[in-house]
Amino acid sequence: MAAITMNHIVKRYGDGFPAVNDVSIDVADGEFMILVGPSGCGKSTLLRMVVGLEDITDGDMMIGDRRVNDLAPRDRNLAMVFQNYALYPHLTVYENIAFPLRLAGADDKEVDKKVREASKTLELDEHLERKPGNLSGGQRQRVAMGRAIVRDADAFLFDEPLSNLDAKLRGQMRTEIARLQKRLGITTIYVTHDQTEAMTLGDRVAVLKRGVLQQLASPRELYENPGNLFVAGFIGSPPMNFLPAEVDGTTVKLPFGEVQIPQAKADKAQGKGLLIAGIRPEHFEDASVVGDKASEGSTFSATVDVVEWLGNQAYAYVPFEAPPEVREQLEQLEKDLDGESLRTQMVVSLDGASRISDGDEAQIWVNSSKMHLFDPATGENLT
Ligand code: ATP
Repeated sequence: MAAITMNHIVKRYGDGFPAVNDVSIDVADGEFMILVGPSGCGKSTLLRMVVGLEDITDGDMMIGDRRVNDLAPRDRNLAMVFQNYALYPHLTVYENIAFPLRLAGADDKEVDKKVREASKTLELDEHLERKPGNLSGGQRQRVAMGRAIVRDADAFLFDEPLSNLDAKLRGQMRTEIARLQKRLGITTIYVTHDQTEAMTLGDRVAVLKRGVLQQLASPRELYENPGNLFVAGFIGSPPMNFLPAEVDGTTVKLPFGEVQIPQAKADKAQGKGLLIAGIRPEHFEDASVVGDKASEGSTFSATVDVVEWLGNQAYAYVPFEAPPEVREQLEQLEKDLDGESLRTQMVVSLDGASRISDGDEAQIWVNSSKMHLFDPATGENLT
């Protein structure tokens, strides 16, 4: 196993805008690193440069202490698991897993030992004589992983491995990959556009936008302290609400009224003019069910358009109109995030016991201590 270090990596196709622009990421030995971002952000290109399928325009790619920029893919000892699994349909599961060992000239005894070990780990031992065509998507995925395991590769690289699976299987496989990665302790880089996958799988997550690394942090850190508007909007589902905000002392004026924020937060946002406040849906609540926490935040009244009830919780949609001062930034953010409607409605998460329903004039509580304040010009999180 080995650490993988990307040092000021640049990829330019022709003379256009760089697909990957000065990205530096250290993946520690045994770490599970996620590369995430919307379509076209450069995550696949970056992974392909790690594995050697794409030339590196500038920067250093290190595996352990070897610089691998000019090393052929087969000499990098990495195992790539592709979205389409790349299994041989005419070979059995056994022979598919054995394939890299046979290629390396291993004898039958060693092949058998390693294939049986891997198939046990992957719970494929009962399917060794079957062909890929007779397996479920999840089983095929495991065969592809088996082939990576038997090679004793220095690292696993995954490019959107679950995107062909239905939602239920995707959830199962996600858990399985996480479990296996922990058990094997193998350095892993995993590319996805799905923030839920990123948050649930990764030790750390690198968020990319248009070839530029936006933030590299643990899932919790990304969620609690997003560095900028883009990361704040990308991480979390439903996404964070963005509202125009004027800060005066510890008072923040929002479209629905005034709320108080902690002094330390307020200090960082003084004298900056109109800002963009970020509030996650789950930091709102039906004021009548908040209970003891009520004093930690503020209550306001809002006309609820529609309520979606999900059992243990509900989402209330509150229409609002972004004022001209921040409309442009929110419009850009919607484009960057692939079209969530941020300018016209706010999403408020309610406890399942809430009785608020469609069209109500409701009392909503907001935990304003969890509010973020962003500079509209730079997108930077000031708090
Ligand atoms: P997706 O999730 O859609 O695959 P991605 O984040 O993986 O997107 P990349 O595939 O890495 O993005 O592409 C990054 C940018 O580089 C895109 O603008 C893409 O159009 C461009 N690009 C990728 N491959 C090539 C190529 N062979 N020639 C020219 N441009 C390319």
